[in-house]
Amino acid sequence: MKDLVKVYLDQMESSKPFIGTEYNECISKNTTHIMGFCFDGTTTFRPGARFGPDALRDASFGIETYSPYLERDLADYSIVDCGNLPIYPSKWRLTNDYFHVVTQDLKLKEDRIKILTLGGEHSISYGPIRLCLDQYTDLFIIHLDAHADLRDGYLQEKFSHASIIRRVWDHLDEDNDLLQYGIRSGLKEEFAFMREHGTLAESLENCLARISALDASRPIYLTLDLDFFDPAFMPGTGTPEAGGENFHNFIKIIKVLKDKNFVGADIVELAPMLDASGSSSAFAAKVTREVLLALQ
Ligand code: MN
Ligand code: MN
Repeated sequence: MKDLVKVYLDQMESSKPFIGTEYNECISKNTTHIMGFCFDGTTTFRPGARFGPDALRDASFGIETYSPYLERDLADYSIVDCGNLPIYPSKWRLTNDYFHVVTQDLKLKEDRIKILTLGGEHSISYGPIRLCLDQYTDLFIIHLDAHADLRDGYLQEKFSHASIIRRVWDHLDEDNDLLQYGIRSGLKEEFAFMREHGTLAESLENCLARISALDASRPIYLTLDLDFFDPAFMPGTGTPEAGGENFHNFIKIIKVLKDKNFVGADIVELAPMLDASGSSSAFAAKVTREVLLALQ
């Protein structure tokens, strides 16, 4: 394995990397990289997502490395956990710029480099999505979330967690597509926007059909806000919203992604302290395993 870039990430507070992976600060060819982005500075309701990446790592030791759904095992692939990006509290732009500096010269496609970013609040997805948009001309973005996140800024913050998909939209051109599913909360204007642009899948069947129809070579990025799931399963998140999806339907989506050109992902908004039982972290760790395996 040839190391391309040394990332100099912060030491993880967690003593161990995500289960089935090795700790390595370097970005390497033919490898999937986990990076924690422990930022929740624009969170408006209940903060705590900055503890998400380390809680996911800790909780991963309660699950197996093998997925019976995908019939794949983390131990069989080159996956490294790079630790957490250096964090400047309440300064999203500095950490985001750091991510940009570290990754901008990589050749994701040619060198088969993949990145799974762990949040943190949803605003952290901007850098990883921009990176993939820069490197894959016809990127197809899947956004799973309870919230539309299409506000044009929120509380004077242009890059808020509540406007992240709108900021991504600013960079899409006619070769890109956005598919949103699970959305059940937003302004009237946000729903009008989704219907005008045809981004909203209004049923699981429609969501699955639209992903299945993609050409096998079409690069796909997944941004997964964990409040996509019903609060019955995922209460440990900043803005829980009733009426969400369950694990089994998520697996249906993941099984379709597994056979596609799935090039990158982020998983955001786990706020572990908001669920004292620890089951939200365990749930999110299992979701993370499935995303990691589908990326292989
Ligand atoms: Mn979101
Ligand atoms: Mn959300």
